[in-house]
Amino acid sequence: GAKARGRGAHCFFDESMIQAARERLEIEARLRSALAQGHLRLYYQPQVDIATGRIVGAEALLRWLDPEEGVISPARFISVAETSGVIGPLGRWVMQEACSQGQRWRAAGLPGIRLAVNVSPYQFQLTDVAACAAQALEDSGLPPHCLELELTESALAERPEAMRQVLQRLQALGVRIAVDDFGTGYSSLAHLKRFPIDALKIDQGFIRDIPSSADDMAISATIIAMGRSLGLTVLAEGVETPEQLAFLRARGCDSYQGYLCSRPVPAEQFGALLQAQA
Ligand code: C2E
Ligand code: MG
Ligand code: MG
Ligand code: MG
Repeated sequence: GAKARGRGAHCFFDESMIQAARERLEIEARLRSALAQGHLRLYYQPQVDIATGRIVGAEALLRWLDPEEGVISPARFISVAETSGVIGPLGRWVMQEACSQGQRWRAAGLPGIRLAVNVSPYQFQLTDVAACAAQALEDSGLPPHCLELELTESALAERPEAMRQVLQRLQALGVRIAVDDFGTGYSSLAHLKRFPIDALKIDQGFIRDIPSSADDMAISATIIAMGRSLGLTVLAEGVETPEQLAFLRARGCDSYQGYLCSRPVPAEQFGALLQAQA
């Protein structure tokens, strides 16, 4: 400890920080082996067209199926993946897997849906995301218009010029771009016209307290109106009640995701949902 090093020695790291660092290293090592051993899965959550009630898309959400711990949620490992660089190979795997699964559903004659894939800001720094998407589309045979990449406002804010170029290459491929968790970041509204964006996803934090929060209703209605007037598709995240859905429908929101329709489910279960509406 600091004492052993004598007077004047400062202890910069206390035990809890060392413990936290150790845990992150352990998660990193276990995550690398989970990726190598095939213990990662994508679950899929329906994206529902509000006007027709039909499933028009699926967001791919990562799950770690640990033989001992069971299902580990991304909240526990995405940030470790990001700071350790594992997000590079991990993100490539997610893109490949989502495109392959989308193409399997198409090949099985299930209605063509769009696959939405989350892309971390770190992935843009570590890898060529446009090349990665192009590769996944080519390997799988999924048409580019069936792929949508979800990025956060922070990804747009960090290195805007480099980002604009990558997004333009994606747009040229025919891949759609959505801004995830819209309204929670610190990006400027100018980004919406500066980048080739197709869709906004209203963060679930603005949906949760509808209809009891007048503020959240005003914010959601404003995002919908703004998105529509800019020609963007607007999707609401985290819709859990019929009241929330009725509000969104009345305001002209295009689509929604949420437990009201379904939680994220394994691929086989999602296939059954598609089958049921075919
Ligand atoms: P996100 O992209 O905003 O995903 C939406 C989250 O909301 C998901 O949590 C989903 O399960 C949850 N959700 C959906 N509907 C409802 C609802 O009605 N109520 C509530 N309370 N929650 C709902 P999940 O699957 O735990 O993922 C958390 C975050 O982890 C995602 O937020 C995303 O930022 C990140 N993530 C997940 N998969 C990936 C991935 O493949 N790559 C990257 N880079 N990040 C991922
Ligand atoms: Mg997302
Ligand atoms: Mg989100
Ligand atoms: Mg989120």
